[in-house]
Amino acid sequence: MSKIVFGVDVGGTTVKLGVFTIEGVLTDKWEIPTRREEGGKYILPDVADSIKAKCEEAGYAKEDIAGVGVGVPGPVMENGVIQFADNLGWGETDISGVLGGLLDVPVKAVNDANVAALGEMCQGGAQGFSDVVAVTLGTGVGGGVIIGGKLLAGSIGSAGEIGHLNVEPTEEESCNCGLKGCMEQYASATGVVRLAKRRLAKDDTPSILRDTELSAKSVWDAVKAGDAVAIEVAEKFGYYLARGLSFVAAVVNPEVFVIGGGVSKAGEILIDYLKPYFDRFSYPGTRNVQFRLAKLGNDAGIYGAAGLVIGSNQ
Ligand code: ZN
Repeated sequence: MSKIVFGVDVGGTTVKLGVFTIEGVLTDKWEIPTRREEGGKYILPDVADSIKAKCEEAGYAKEDIAGVGVGVPGPVMENGVIQFADNLGWGETDISGVLGGLLDVPVKAVNDANVAALGEMCQGGAQGFSDVVAVTLGTGVGGGVIIGGKLLAGSIGSAGEIGHLNVEPTEEESCNCGLKGCMEQYASATGVVRLAKRRLAKDDTPSILRDTELSAKSVWDAVKAGDAVAIEVAEKFGYYLARGLSFVAAVVNPEVFVIGGGVSKAGEILIDYLKPYFDRFSYPGTRNVQFRLAKLGNDAGIYGAAGLVIGSNQ
């Protein structure tokens, strides 16, 4: 049989796993819980056990496995060592060494936002491009930068942390990272809700948001329904996201920004609020960039993780 590849996306609550052919076709996927107790020491052994069980079930021999790619939430260096992963309870961890040791196959590890970027380039919204910035608008804001088809890791794996670009110097509330005025404070799911709460508290303008449980989805639904207050919130969202992305464009000059994460489920309307501000803030020589929505959803991580191995086998 031809070789197979495992793609693994380690998140704070679940670990997603997928089996791919060496050509990149997803043939099976499943999830296991992320056990974060005791400093997350069970996570990698759980992943190894789950892969071994799948091999047993499907009749894969060790020789059939070309490798395992892993995405993890934290800065990963080129050698597969992660500095820390707060969401997993990890300190410095040699992912390639530990998981490779347990499975006795090659293991490659990269930051989760970066693997999602790779997934979107290989088989998603950025297919056919090689200079790509993936923007993940989830609980926070993540980014992945691909130049000439290669992921940019940076000196300690922190390249692409675009959520913490300062887009509002007068902000008084702190971001999770400790800074104030980060793009993540306005453009993430929690950021959109925060903007809506602030706007609603400002005056008594009627809005359907006053009778709704606030979420990124309820805000965008209200925008689509023509709610004036929600539209103001969307304008602010677009303004701040555009500021951040104009900085990124000036450094990287990508062909495409591919926008994913929970907030992107709002659809193309999000780009309608982003693009005019982007054109206003960005240097003319970088405005050729296209904006696309991500296509792989929650599977971007496993596609990209498998892509780490597939790319190195070509
Ligand atoms: Zn921050």
